[in-house]
Amino acid sequence: MSSATPITVAHGDGIGPEIMAATLQILKEAGARLDIQTIEIGEKQYLKGNLAGIEPGAFESLRRTKVFLKAPITTPQGGGYKSLNVATRKAFGLYANIRPCLSYDPYVRTKHPKMDVVIVRENEEDLYTGIEHRQTIDVMQCLKLISRPGSEKIVRYAFEFARAYGRKKVTCFTKDNIMKMTDGLFHKVFDEISPEYPDIENEHWIVDIGAAKLADTPEAFDVIVMPNLYGDILSDVAAQIAGSVGLAGSANIGDSCAMFEAIHGSAPRRAGQNLANPSGLFLGAIQMLVHIGQADIAELAHNAWLKTIEDGVHTYDIFKEGISKEKVGTKEFAAAVVSRVGQKPELLKAVNYSKALERPLTTRPPYIRSSEKKAYVGVDVFIDCIDKADVLAAKLKPLGIDGLELEMLSNRGMKVWPGGTEDTFLSDSFRCRFLVPFDKGAVTTHKATMGLFNRIIETGLDIIKHEGLYTFDGKVGFSRE
Ligand code: NAD
Repeated sequence: MSSATPITVAHGDGIGPEIMAATLQILKEAGARLDIQTIEIGEKQYLKGNLAGIEPGAFESLRRTKVFLKAPITTPQGGGYKSLNVATRKAFGLYANIRPCLSYDPYVRTKHPKMDVVIVRENEEDLYTGIEHRQTIDVMQCLKLISRPGSEKIVRYAFEFARAYGRKKVTCFTKDNIMKMTDGLFHKVFDEISPEYPDIENEHWIVDIGAAKLADTPEAFDVIVMPNLYGDILSDVAAQIAGSVGLAGSANIGDSCAMFEAIHGSAPRRAGQNLANPSGLFLGAIQMLVHIGQADIAELAHNAWLKTIEDGVHTYDIFKEGISKEKVGTKEFAAAVVSRVGQKPELLKAVNYSKALERPLTTRPPYIRSSEKKAYVGVDVFIDCIDKADVLAAKLKPLGIDGLELEMLSNRGMKVWPGGTEDTFLSDSFRCRFLVPFDKGAVTTHKATMGLFNRIIETGLDIIKHEGLYTFDGKVGFSRE
């Protein structure tokens, strides 16, 4: 027998300590070989003044063990507290969030008895970079960032995951009909990588209709990979329509570290009453066992859990008269699972993790940055202004310098000069585009654009920010309107 694997465990707040105790008890009784190091996170740490919600030194434990089993925490009301999840994901490069959403019909009520979907959510980028600004009195901005290496990592992980678990299809959801560059890159990377996995079917859906289809006919999907925000929302939807968010576990995977948890929160009103369902955290812990190479134990424990659900031994949240047989508390549920270790479900599909042992999930070819030639061809200057568009344009037009000419103004992304209409609502934030004739090979310089900014400032206009406009091997690197 191999030696125990060191893991870091946090018991969390609310129902956290109860569901963690139940989870650890089942793992231990199933034979998991774990060397547990406990850290404190959550409310107590926040209230001690640690705005990150984690005790100093705890990150050291995570760096050492590289595996984190985390119970939910309570975020105190009021501002200033940082999200522990976001901080941990970023500190340890946990780029993939895996949320299996499976129905347990006929034992847990659902409208989708055949549902078996795994959401693979990109975990570090998109609108979750947290880069937000108030630009003017009236306008706030949040930056959406999607990178090529970030997209390659998550898309490849989705296909590797599908292979490792014998899944047939990977679907990509984006909104690239609107966000042609950011979501467009994610989709493009998906199209580039999918041919490397000819054994797995692939398809792309625009996220809005894809989400509708997922809510209506989830059995049409298998693995779905998507950028951060869509994945955050749709994984909760998928878990809920499968039966309950209380039954879903989640893994946050990086190249060297990983974090495992339930998808629900600390449910403070249920705390301390031996009521909570430990299944979400338990199923997160099952993903952890597979991750640390104890797939044999994961299989034993998971099948015992399935048998318990099948036998109708249910906590209050999934208990239904006529379906369930016995209403139990957290501890009794854990004991029921323990007593079934070695058994398999009869009607529900038993799990088999033997294949997962064979495949490393996070290996990939080294990232090769392209060598496209970047040329500086203009600048979008964002200006705080309450003038009408043609009044502002008349002020800006004479300020062009060294070949930089005012090409257009837009407001909230809508072109308003030249050729705007009276009906377009104007906010107090204008984007003013100055370009050189780059289609004739012209480029600009920082000296020229600095000269332009000085001229604009001298007229008394307030520059909020500017964004460089580039071509890459002659291809335009900005939206045209
Ligand atoms: P929640 O998920 O904690 O609970 C919502 C409701 O779902 C509960 O009232 C309860 O009825 C039910 N529920 C949730 N988990 C259950 C379980 N295991 N067994 C039985 N019933 C369960 O959501 P909330 O009430 O919005 O949030 C409570 C706290 O949790 C907040 O402070 C929030 O910030 C925090 N939170 C933490 C995490 C995390 O640590 N990962 C995630 C979400 C929310």
